Amino acid sequence: MTTVGHLINGKIIEDAARVQDVYNPATGGSTTRVALASKETVEEAIASAQTAFPAWRNTPAIKRARIMFRFKELLEANADKICELIGQEHGKISHDAAGELQRGIENVEYACGVPELLKGEYSKNVGPNIDSWSEFQPLGVVAGITPFNFPAMVPMWMFPLAIACGNTFVLKPSERDPSSTLYIAQLLHEAGLPEGVLNVVNGDKEAVDILLTDERIKAVSFVGSTPIAEYIYATANANGKRCQALGGAKNHAIVMPDADIDNAVNQLLGAAFGSSGERCMALSVAVAVGDAAADELVAKMSEAMKPLKVGAYSDSSNDFGPVITRAHQQKVNGYIDSAENDGANVVVDGRNPAVSGYEDGFFVGATLIDQVTPTMQSYQEEIFGPVLQVVRVETMEQAMQLINDHEYGNGTCIFTRDGEAARYFSDHIQVGMVGINVPLPVPVAYHSFGGWKRSLFGDLHAYGPDGVRFYTKRKTITQRWPSSGVREGVSFAFPS
Ligand code: NAD
Repeated sequence: MTTVGHLINGKIIEDAARVQDVYNPATGGSTTRVALASKETVEEAIASAQTAFPAWRNTPAIKRARIMFRFKELLEANADKICELIGQEHGKISHDAAGELQRGIENVEYACGVPELLKGEYSKNVGPNIDSWSEFQPLGVVAGITPFNFPAMVPMWMFPLAIACGNTFVLKPSERDPSSTLYIAQLLHEAGLPEGVLNVVNGDKEAVDILLTDERIKAVSFVGSTPIAEYIYATANANGKRCQALGGAKNHAIVMPDADIDNAVNQLLGAAFGSSGERCMALSVAVAVGDAAADELVAKMSEAMKPLKVGAYSDSSNDFGPVITRAHQQKVNGYIDSAENDGANVVVDGRNPAVSGYEDGFFVGATLIDQVTPTMQSYQEEIFGPVLQVVRVETMEQAMQLINDHEYGNGTCIFTRDGEAARYFSDHIQVGMVGINVPLPVPVAYHSFGGWKRSLFGDLHAYGPDGVRFYTKRKTITQRWPSSGVREGVSFAFPS
């Protein structure tokens, strides 16, 4: 059995005092385990990043960018291997892993423009012979803590931009699928990154708690579930750190009576069941306006779900793979049970699907539940599985109220042909990322990603322009070079 170690100061470290099995969710078996970092190992990683910081901070931005250009090329050249590692441990099908990797690479491309992004602001002659400018300086050592569901993309929301901005980094990936993340970090070293600038520690809460409390860590980026995001944000703040903590979601799609239902069905299939619904932007609730739209949607959706194939990542004809663990499979099935017990109608039942040759895998088939109401537990909580629930309402206002009342506000979408309705929706909905006939409105790398309400703790969204602000500190310099021989007079008034 191989053990996934840590990457500290450019070298793989095998601190295997504590280990945890990593599963192949398609087979249910385990051939890999991951080392869980001790306090000493995390402190070694922080020390390595601290030592690397002064030289890296002073490396010209264009030279830092050149390493990112080489990194992008290596990611593209090794895409098949990265997708294979993602498939083995996460379970997503290769076409889905390739999409995730591409979105990660786009964040590296954005980081390649860092000389432009750090140019700052300049004003000449703000007073007599006085010029003023603002520059954006790196923070120092920053940390990233990432979830299992995007082991390549979400870490690349963080470290490429943070590093390009002149910081050094300690990354704590998900312990459930650590191999692709570690390999990607090794590729960045192959691209020429100096030792210590990026360190990876694998581990669990023990490692995270050191990152949250060690005074050498200046900022923490987190992506994961809401209860942990809330804990991370509170603890990092209490320890004087800047923090952005992205949490869970319950993303609703409004299906208006005038919508092209066939198109909405096609969009909902991928957005609800792609990656087994294990996406923070997955559409998990369809809010149908009017019974006619609801009946048509449920009838066409259940028909369209018949040919869907759930199976192992290695067969690219499969539509989606297993969920991440046995415990998570049971949890998702439990939500379907609870909706049924609460009186909802399970129209397509994905509990315990038969997957030939993979009888011990953690599979849940695509599930459609109609007549769901807002008081049901399955509606209120994030399921994070291939389950689409239909809530029926009479008006668009009721649909929007439902979304605005929900504790999460990550993504949402409206299917309609009515531009006025779409415009009103995007203006008034209390959600951070909005789609109009676009089911997964994940912002591109040169915008920024983040939800509202309990889907994000902190002020700045992830990556893009907000990412640059998050990973830098503004400094404003005001400078005067008096003409020779000119003496300034004394003044006790506030300078104006
Ligand atoms: P998780 O919260 O269980 O774990 C995320 C990270 O936190 C992991 O690195 C894990 O090791 C660490 N962690 C777990 N428990 C901890 C504890 N008690 N103390 C300190 N650290 C702890 O999330 P997950 O199951 O890996 O990922 C799925 C969740 O992430 C879903 O809720 C999903 O919506 C969310 N997510 C959100 C976004 C977003 O952008 N908003 C993106 C992807 C995933």
